[in-house]
Amino acid sequence: MKQKIANQNHLERIKMILKKNNIKITNQRIEIINFLMSEKRHVKAEEIYRYLKDYGVGLATVYRNLEKLKSLGIITEINYGKERYFEMKLFSKKSIKIHMKCEKCDQIIDFYDDELSFFILKKKNFYEEQKNIKIKDVSLNMIGICEECENKEEEFNGKTNKT
Ligand SMILES: [Zn+2]
Repeated sequence: MKQKIANQNHLERIKMILKKNNIKITNQRIEIINFLMSEKRHVKAEEIYRYLKDYGVGLATVYRNLEKLKSLGIITEINYGKERYFEMKLFSKKSIKIHMKCEKCDQIIDFYDDELSFFILKKKNFYEEQKNIKIKDVSLNMIGICEECENKEEEFNGKTNKT
């Protein structure tokens, strides 16, 4: 229950940001934001497209909306090779994005590592000063095998070893 109220407040804040930037608050946009806020994992544009297909929203429109939300700092994009994932940036407590993508099942795992975040932030500030630049976003993308897939592999190997 509490979660829903919080999300409602978040949604109101996003609407205010859209208004301030003279962006129309359309049903499509609200549905896309709702989807991103309710999904715990990271979503691909295609997933939002599938979800909104019945509303007659095309994939190009989904991408256009995502780009707009990204430019406003509401969402952020994570790239793994050619694949693009999106997640909420606003209201996210993570200062540094640390992710691992499982190369077998494509799921993305979040890391919350204060120690590593602190170290990266320290380095970020150092380079900003040294090179006289402004770093807006830092992410650490790892590729590996998740626990589930690792277990499956072990099971499989175990079976083949027996025969
Ligand atoms: Zn996996």
